[in-house]
Amino acid sequence: MPKTSTKERYVEIVSRLAERLTDTGPQALLDLLAIAMVNLSRYSPLNVAMIMAQRPDATDVRGYRTWKKAGKQVLKGERAIWIWAPRLKKTVDENGEEKEVIAGFRLVPVFDITQTDATPEETQHPMHQITAPDHLDPHALARAISAKIAPVTFVTGIHANGLYYRDQHRIEINRNIPPAAQLHALFHEAAHAVLHGKDSAKDKDRKRLELEAETSAYVVSHILGFEVDLASSTYLASYGTKPDELFEIVQDVTAAVRAILAAVQPVAITKAA
Ligand SMILES: [Zn+2]
Repeated sequence: MPKTSTKERYVEIVSRLAERLTDTGPQALLDLLAIAMVNLSRYSPLNVAMIMAQRPDATDVRGYRTWKKAGKQVLKGERAIWIWAPRLKKTVDENGEEKEVIAGFRLVPVFDITQTDATPEETQHPMHQITAPDHLDPHALARAISAKIAPVTFVTGIHANGLYYRDQHRIEINRNIPPAAQLHALFHEAAHAVLHGKDSAKDKDRKRLELEAETSAYVVSHILGFEVDLASSTYLASYGTKPDELFEIVQDVTAAVRAILAAVQPVAITKAA
């Protein structure tokens, strides 16, 4: 077998994600994103994108030996999922003490629980452990987002459902729209605040900014248990077929969804027993 370099393998994984996102219907895509963002919460946004590219329905990935320690055997012939792991190096600090520092990153193989001899009951993903109460108060959520992400005010006299003022890093929500629309606007503008603030270094075009904010809002709503239809304008595949950019967008959406869920968790989310 020819030896694959890390670079080659990474480029191949990046393009695989683009293919998957293009082939997946909007509603299924929403499910996949939500599963990834809830169940892969201990992984960096980069590794979430890596896992989604290779096994989008993965819920619990670990190394071969870690599974073994947990009493599970990786099945013969299973194809590894590759993720980035820090390469540690021992050095001696100024006090003469030995410590480990990150010297770089390498690709390491991991396997999803469905690739082990775990029983079907054990492999069921706990997606629906996060549920929101039936009636979410937009004002309570706005206070939570004000405290953790950016100040939110409810106003009249704006034509949009919501606005994010980049220079002032604050959010306005239209007072005269239904609560469900206010919640969606709140998530959308909060995603802008997380990802597209004044200090965000990247120059992204307008379509991409809206795609990221809208996808984040849909994923948050979906995770909180609202019925949502993914508008075609937010369909990731519609953005184009640039694999690198889609790979980055998945990472950005992961970061925004995490920040919003962390902010609204205390008021919005009840964990099913
Ligand atoms: Zn927007």
